[in-house]
Amino acid sequence: MISVVLFDLDDTLFAHRRAVEDGVVAHLRSTGLVDPEADFAAEAARWSALEEHHYTRYLHGDLDYLGQRRARATDFLRPYGVEFESDAAAEEWFETYLREYRAAWQLHDDALPVLRSLSRFRLGIITNGVTHFQQPKLDALGIAPFFEHVITSGDFGAVKPHPSIFLHACEVFGVQPTQAAYVGDRLATDAIGAAEAGLLGVWLNRDAAVTDLENEKVATHGIRVISTLAALPACLADAEEPLL
Ligand SMILES: [Mg+2]
Repeated sequence: MISVVLFDLDDTLFAHRRAVEDGVVAHLRSTGLVDPEADFAAEAARWSALEEHHYTRYLHGDLDYLGQRRARATDFLRPYGVEFESDAAAEEWFETYLREYRAAWQLHDDALPVLRSLSRFRLGIITNGVTHFQQPKLDALGIAPFFEHVITSGDFGAVKPHPSIFLHACEVFGVQPTQAAYVGDRLATDAIGAAEAGLLGVWLNRDAAVTDLENEKVATHGIRVISTLAALPACLADAEEPLL
């Protein structure tokens, strides 16, 4: 019987990628470095790719938290011939970007309705991030009261998909892994990581496109796949049906 539902935050409940891309475009426009007719969508995609690259390096311990910020800023501005004179200058550029990123914060449209519909479950968050960066999102978007516990990799000391962070969350809630489900937008990091720790792994695949390899992994690990959070309550009910 599942009694605890745990969520990933970025790009599961919180429209992170949209905020990142809107934020960098607003920041880039304000710098005057770029022609107003430039391909901002391409620049936003480049910025997102740099985030993925350098934030993953941070999660693997190859860069520290501020180091990944400086690396993203430095690589992003290189094609414009801009070089930061100091670490502080790169961090300041990043801070200015963050103001635009914060101004663009929003939830996915299906987030609040699903949280409201799960009142019979205890809810929590497991996020690969640091508390001082993630908690303000929950507070600002008004969803913090839904969650009994927020577990961040920064505080815990291990990152998803390592089973220990999922097991830690179950321990904090005082439940067995089989009594918990984990919902996230990344198949390997979220759903498979959770499944390997013994939780029900739910992959929120908003694109709905699935490769053969992904299908194979989904089947191997007993992952449930949904394309919208609106499908989560039915998915959880279905997972609880006794096998005939
Ligand atoms: Mg995510």
